[in-house]
Amino acid sequence: MKILVINCGSSSLKFQLIDMTDESVLAKGACERIGAGGSITCSANEHKLEAEYPLPDHTVAFEKIKDLLMSGPTKVIDSADEVDAIGHRIVQGGDLYSKSVLIDESVKEGIASLIDLAPLHNPAHLQGIVAAEAAFPGVPMAAVFDNAFHSTMPPKAYMYPLPYRYYEEFKVRKYGFHGTSHRYCYVHLHGQYPQYRKVMICHIGNGSSICAIHNGEVVETSMGMTPLDGFIMGTRCGSIDPAVVTYIQEKDGLTPEEMNDIMNKKSGLLGVSGVSSDMRDLRQAANRGNERAQLALDLMYYQIAMRIGSYIIALGGMDALVFTAGIGENTPITRTIVCDYLKFMGCILDEDKNQEAIGKEMKISAPESKIDVFVIPTNEELMIARDTYHLVSAL
Ligand code: ADP
Repeated sequence: MKILVINCGSSSLKFQLIDMTDESVLAKGACERIGAGGSITCSANEHKLEAEYPLPDHTVAFEKIKDLLMSGPTKVIDSADEVDAIGHRIVQGGDLYSKSVLIDESVKEGIASLIDLAPLHNPAHLQGIVAAEAAFPGVPMAAVFDNAFHSTMPPKAYMYPLPYRYYEEFKVRKYGFHGTSHRYCYVHLHGQYPQYRKVMICHIGNGSSICAIHNGEVVETSMGMTPLDGFIMGTRCGSIDPAVVTYIQEKDGLTPEEMNDIMNKKSGLLGVSGVSSDMRDLRQAANRGNERAQLALDLMYYQIAMRIGSYIIALGGMDALVFTAGIGENTPITRTIVCDYLKFMGCILDEDKNQEAIGKEMKISAPESKIDVFVIPTNEELMIARDTYHLVSAL
């Protein structure tokens, strides 16, 4: 079975075609600047295509992806019929979906009903679903929700201490995100080490979140009603004193939209350092003596460790700690410093292994460590393909 995995944003559409016989990626790429010019990349058959191409809307983008998959140097299928199913990443499933589902009219209505909670994402996902239906008529499709894995959180973890009616009327609560990534890492680890009961996954990338899993069920996670919550990220501030928001708005005369933009796009590592949101740039700048770049990094290490510390309470201990995503997988220094904060609990890295584990799966803790520490490269697309495969196989 071949499955097309789609991650559709308002002006972008990332795709992977995965052959489920061996879970290999046949082709992958992205359409960017949809509705504002258009460009496309596609890698297949060891060939990488990059081109400007007019993409007025998502439907045209899907047609172009079909062309690339069926012809030229990136050809991997003979006809569109070879795409057996399509899996869509959906950011916000609210409290409607606790697992992945096949898409029908009611699911589309469900995703649409949650637009208020994810105004930037869910409309784009719906556009992607409609365009995929037009390009691949009759092909079954699944929706895989970013927050579904976190649906096991107890009310004491997901409620905000606000007047209760905001929860009842506006669904204001913690949902958590990156669930597909956390689930991939957890399932992968569990396959090899089923004995772990208390597992913490640190997804540290441009967007970052930590997830605490007890006997396979999420009990805590750091992102909230939106992916802005948690700890410092590339350009997002994470948790701050909520009173700061109205204070800055008043001081700078900002609208709610402008304030939102500052907290989402101009804060975090970028905001503190004034240099970049990218870990590589920050480390270079810090090495050259830029103190604010170093401060931004110090904040990140400290905040990750503080989160882990508080989630150890939620878990009642920790058997295994996993680092994943761009920073988690590729920066030994992050793991060294974070684990140094945990040393008092007997968390000890094998520093040689830690240095070696760059972008690859490894156990990096020392034999005497009381907590086993791992690097596991995440693979959200494969998780989406697997869910889609299981749902479609049961049809
Ligand atoms: P996203 O949340 O957009 O998927 P990623 O998981 O790709 O983000 O993470 C991006 C972050 O990972 C950036 O800060 C980047 O600097 C960092 N990163 C990625 N690869 C490396 C690397 N090889 N060395 C150091 N940092 C890296």
